[in-house]
Amino acid sequence: MHGPDLVALTGSKGEAALAEARRALQICNACRYCEGYCAVFPAMTLRREFADADLIHLANLCHGCRDCLYACQYAPPHEFGINIPKTMSEVRIESYARAAPGTRLLVDRPQLATALLLGMMVALVELYRRLLGGDPGGRGFYAVMGREAMIAFGLTAAGFALTGLTIGLLRYRAFAGPADHFGPSLRSWWRAAGDAATLRYLGGGGVGCNDTGESFSYKRRLYHHLMAWGFAACFAATSLGAIYDHLLHWPAPYPWISVPGLLGTVGGIAMIAGTTGLIWLKRIEGDSVSSPTTRAFDRSLLILLLIAAATGLANRLAHGTATLTPALIMHLASIGALLVAMPLGKFMHAGFRFLALARHADERRRLRID
Ligand code: SF4
Ligand code: SF4
Repeated sequence: MHGPDLVALTGSKGEAALAEARRALQICNACRYCEGYCAVFPAMTLRREFADADLIHLANLCHGCRDCLYACQYAPPHEFGINIPKTMSEVRIESYARAAPGTRLLVDRPQLATALLLGMMVALVELYRRLLGGDPGGRGFYAVMGREAMIAFGLTAAGFALTGLTIGLLRYRAFAGPADHFGPSLRSWWRAAGDAATLRYLGGGGVGCNDTGESFSYKRRLYHHLMAWGFAACFAATSLGAIYDHLLHWPAPYPWISVPGLLGTVGGIAMIAGTTGLIWLKRIEGDSVSSPTTRAFDRSLLILLLIAAATGLANRLAHGTATLTPALIMHLASIGALLVAMPLGKFMHAGFRFLALARHADERRRLRID
């Protein structure tokens, strides 16, 4: 790669990523060829200088489609060595690390940290199961682990996640502010919600993204939709199951042909398809668009999502068999690991990106661009 060794010069990977982003965006701001691809370049043109807060904001607007890399006349091997998707992915990691210091462990040793997290959650599920036991006369998974034990485990993991997410989002808002850019404008929030729900900028300005190389495709957008909407369907199935069970006193488990049963099954299959597709795209990505560390970090969290979805379906299939106990323990442990990992890294991307989209919509509204 070109230029000086920024890690050695700045003393940290995060500072080096910010320095490289500042250098690259100053060149982009003079060139502006990629203005139509995504929200990053229009937001960039509103600035003459790039403070850390601006760089973090722009990095969280970028979703790594790579259109600007394949279009760039200054990309490697040109001596300018401009590689916006790679640079932005490293700045995003710095934003996760600033929001939650524990992120560094997940970034530097993602496989080890994920395996440790999963192991700790298996131990915690087993602890609650042994302490509180199954429900006397309970059917299905309630015979393996009772309501009280499940609620105690769920509240522990969800409490950690909610506290961590709130702190992380408040910290992001503080360091990627200024705060008034998050506006009181409902229209900006509404616009950001629409852009996030439709994954608008994963369309690469209308022609798709360079997901697998020089040709354009919508694969990443499709897999991302499958994973996100599958996750939402599984969450809806669990919430509906809790309402049936606790408020309407219709005890779980629910048959395949029921609203929670169908939502959970379809959502689980969609999540498996989406996460498998995204893991495959990460596998073929290569060093030219992301560093091995970033890829391993992203992949480890996708694997957790895949385990959660696969064990959820395995639970339904194992109903009435001896494999229900290990399938349930692994499923609950993977959900617990996902919840605990949420504030520590890649999952913060969803919240940060939403705040970045809202700030972008607000900046454009104030300047009457739209
Ligand atoms: S990525 Fe390259 S082509 Fe695109 S705006 Fe920057 S310098 Fe220009
Ligand atoms: S990689 Fe895609 S989203 Fe990121 S700056 Fe380039 S064109 Fe925009």
